[in-house]
Amino acid sequence: MNDNLNEFTQWVKDLNPGESEFLQAVEEVAEIIIPIIDKHPRFKNKKILERMIEPERVITFRVPWIDDQGNIHVNRGYRIEMNSAIGPYKGGLRFHPSVNLSILKFLAFEQVFKNALTTLPMGGGKGGANFDPKGKSDMEIMNFCQSFMTELCRHIGPNTDVPAGDIGVGGREIGYMFGQYKRIRNEFTGVLTGKGIGWGGSLIRTEATGYGNVYFAQNMLELKGDSFDNKVVVISGSGNVAQYSCEKATQLGAKVVSMSDSSGYIYDKDGVDSEKLLFIMNLKNIKRGRIKEYADHYGCEFHKGRPWNVNCDIALPCATQNELNKTEAEQLLANGCMCVSEGANMPTTPDAIEAFLNAKILFAPGKASNAGGVATSGLEMSQNSLRINWTREEVDMKLQNIMKNIHSQCVEHGKQGDYVNYVRGANIAGFFKVADAMLDQGVV
Ligand code: NDP
Repeated sequence: MNDNLNEFTQWVKDLNPGESEFLQAVEEVAEIIIPIIDKHPRFKNKKILERMIEPERVITFRVPWIDDQGNIHVNRGYRIEMNSAIGPYKGGLRFHPSVNLSILKFLAFEQVFKNALTTLPMGGGKGGANFDPKGKSDMEIMNFCQSFMTELCRHIGPNTDVPAGDIGVGGREIGYMFGQYKRIRNEFTGVLTGKGIGWGGSLIRTEATGYGNVYFAQNMLELKGDSFDNKVVVISGSGNVAQYSCEKATQLGAKVVSMSDSSGYIYDKDGVDSEKLLFIMNLKNIKRGRIKEYADHYGCEFHKGRPWNVNCDIALPCATQNELNKTEAEQLLANGCMCVSEGANMPTTPDAIEAFLNAKILFAPGKASNAGGVATSGLEMSQNSLRINWTREEVDMKLQNIMKNIHSQCVEHGKQGDYVNYVRGANIAGFFKVADAMLDQGVV
């Protein structure tokens, strides 16, 4: 570590005590970016990184709501407005009991770089609540969403801050929140993305993060003269990103043998084909059941824990942060895994990333490979502003081009001899775009 990096890391730690996920995300960026700042005189003494790690605004608020039995509950809501140098704040809302300031700040920080990579005019933000949607009735979900939006609506707007979904927030929750925003503000406007197709949503938005993840991996494979054809794929998670990563990988000729949820993973040696995937979509999106029911239904294996000991060529972590550690990375490498593409945000721990980079396999960081979701949210915003709807093919083509472009930026800035370090490439490319905009706009 150079002295500047040591000093910077210590300063961030002292400033944000106990925020382990946020520190993890900042350290990854600082390690790569501080030497870049040292090399480029225009960034010297501008405190660019110091400004980037401090959110422009952090909003926390009380979310009281009433359950079906008439009991009152109180949750904590958040919106982190991280950086608006290149556009309105943009990033998802997460409803999960683990949500806290550290997790949302790490997500918002990553979002700034990710949104810059899409080349669309979007700043970075993130929000959510420590609310657990599991086991709640539709009415309880609606009560919560309405209460959450009653406060959030003061802080967001189509030119200010445009939230979307994330863990625990899908089409149903976006609908309830949009309805409440419209009711209070008396405005039908593109203030949220991930909306229903009949009321301002974009085709392919639901599929975009998973599809984009696979398109990114496809670009990495193509650069090596390879493809998804006949590859064995392991996916963690069985939510939105996992489902559409599975669909696209299968369409490209791969066999997905494992998917998971927080209780364990299934191993289906015959592969999760399109019919079985429909079963998972119904199970997870409508019945809201557990992945074990897949194993019971199709008579395949179910195991507790995470799926990384299953033999595969390609691993797609699509569940949550820090879900793939060094031991699991070594296991994947020993089993012959040659490509890892993150659908989730920061699913791989720093020492596991190091193991993949040392082994020189293809490794895509989420801020590049899962940017397809927010990119298509950007396309939803454009369609809302223009008051038009693009076809499925048009949006899919734009998504593919955006992922190709992100891949090229990563290669341009991440090439180290004949190896591409995509972590380095993504961080440098995202940094230049945001940092230069911040320089142009003065000390604000
Ligand atoms: P969903 O809520 O649709 O699905 C989340 C999946 O991950 C579920 O299978 C869930 O299992 C599992 N999971 C959640 N927390 C844990 C945990 N602590 N341990 C093990 N499994 C867990 O979320 P998404 O698919 O939307 O999001 C998944 C990841 O992708 C997140 O990291 C998110 O930030 C990222 N992402 C999402 C985007 C989007 O457009 N939705 C865009 C970019 C990134 P269970 O059902 O048991 O809770």
